[in-house]
Amino acid sequence: MIYSGISASKGVGFGKVVKLKENIISVKKEGATENKDENERYTNAINSYKSRVAILSENLDQKLSVTEGDILRSHLAILDDPEFNNLVLKQIKAGKSAEESVSIVCEGYADTFRSSNDEILIQKIDDVIDIKQGILSMLSGESDPIPDLSKGSVIVGRSILPSILSSLDVSLISGIVSDSGNDTSHSAILAKSMNIPMICGATNVYNKVNDGDDIIVDALNGDIIHLPEKKEVKYYKDIASKYIKDLTELEKFRDINSVTTDGQILNIYCNLSGISDISRFLESDGEGIGLLRTEMIFMNKMAEPSEDEQFKEYLKIVQSAKGRPTIIRTLDAGGDKNIPYLNISKEENPFLGIRAIRFCLKDRALFKRQIRAILRASHYGNVEIMLPMVTCVSEVSEAKAVIEECKDELRKDKIPFKEDIKIGCMIETPSAAIMADELAKVCDFFSIGTNDLIQYTMCADRGNSMVSYLYSVFQPAVLRLIRNICLSAKKAGIKVEMCGEAAANEILLPVLVSLKIDAISVSPGSVLKLRRIINGLNASDCNKIADRVYQMSSEAEIFEYLSSYKNTD
Ligand code: PEP
Ligand code: MG
Repeated sequence: MIYSGISASKGVGFGKVVKLKENIISVKKEGATENKDENERYTNAINSYKSRVAILSENLDQKLSVTEGDILRSHLAILDDPEFNNLVLKQIKAGKSAEESVSIVCEGYADTFRSSNDEILIQKIDDVIDIKQGILSMLSGESDPIPDLSKGSVIVGRSILPSILSSLDVSLISGIVSDSGNDTSHSAILAKSMNIPMICGATNVYNKVNDGDDIIVDALNGDIIHLPEKKEVKYYKDIASKYIKDLTELEKFRDINSVTTDGQILNIYCNLSGISDISRFLESDGEGIGLLRTEMIFMNKMAEPSEDEQFKEYLKIVQSAKGRPTIIRTLDAGGDKNIPYLNISKEENPFLGIRAIRFCLKDRALFKRQIRAILRASHYGNVEIMLPMVTCVSEVSEAKAVIEECKDELRKDKIPFKEDIKIGCMIETPSAAIMADELAKVCDFFSIGTNDLIQYTMCADRGNSMVSYLYSVFQPAVLRLIRNICLSAKKAGIKVEMCGEAAANEILLPVLVSLKIDAISVSPGSVLKLRRIINGLNASDCNKIADRVYQMSSEAEIFEYLSSYKNTD
């Protein structure tokens, strides 16, 4: 029987089912007679849980890296949040038991995250559930349901909590299947670092399998093969060995330049969302960080991170780049990136409202805290600042004035920073693309944000499948804007990069080479694959291909034409 789910950590695993027992800890309902006792029980439980998390995260630091340890350490940040503790203590004061109080508060957080529609907050659901289970088991004295594993175990759970995964012997696990979660959940991030194939969102598989059943986890295609027949085992073994062979082939493209056969360099950078992406970046062989989406650092918190907190996060990322370019984008809040505590007023049309640079120029104090943190981190690496969603020259000039103010303050306080830090902007609105020649006079570099540029040019919401037929980088209108941006950048002698999803589109690469784009910035997993293609391209052939593209008037024609050149892998 074949079930399907979301491929969360690539690979193919073969083995026997080990079902993760559900940790159903009874929640003491009756109100406590003495608030004082319940307060004390809660404080003791939370302290024991914190020590346990500290040990587990240190184990992860040693087994994997500090980045993975930080996933569990983020639980500590929630537990240290005064808001969290106040909410629990308020419930206890109202006469609830410590167990019930913790459950109510954690479930409340989970519900808020669930209804947020926000990928990062949804990712945190497992964390608060993990915290709930952890504190409850400390209160009840019952331990976590850690299963007995033997070599080739495939873990199947209704959900896989990060703390459980961190407690298991990785060398015995050949696959993971979870009924809930998605490819961005913290367990998925851990599974990737542990190199274990994992499938999430495999609805109800838990109920359909039994301990000891044979199972195959094809996390390349998101298929779970329960009780496979002999011929299926052979079929999937072939897929697994082809995958390993491909990976080995790609390794030949590690530690070399991304350069066409006739010597044109097209650097490949990585898009990062925070410290949890560092290990993927380091593995990727990316030549720099082309986009750090700092809003994710804000979304991961319950309140605005202070200048110091931001500085520490940026610093870790900057140091991981070891001198390679690190482009930090200032806060792109608003639009699809809702950060509840910023209280951005409800708008009819958030994508056309107070978003990104518009928000930061309104809330100067918040903007300055971020700029100061970035400037401080710039002392430790090759940092550049990038402004999102710019539509006109005055926004860049205003933002640069704020940056100058921050520099003055830091100088006065004798805090070091990179004096000649480059300041550039995203070109992701049609107005910026049209005004690229003027913007080039006030910017040190451009980075083309195709995700937004396509949506604003085609008037097609990037998340609306009903208009996805219009949402394409191969639309001639979009390609003409991209060409204009690149020509303006080249004329002004500034660098131009591309960091939207289209940068990883293999069939677009000849056009990007012809435009002499300096760098593309993509998700870490795509670096070697794209380098293999770039290293097989010839710039003068690309020029001829692109010349024809600009004569075409339909998306379909361009797509078909460029697809015909995709014989490179
Ligand atoms: C883009 O718009 O292409 C981009 C990279 O920004 P984001 O996806 O974060 O809006
Ligand atoms: Mg954007």
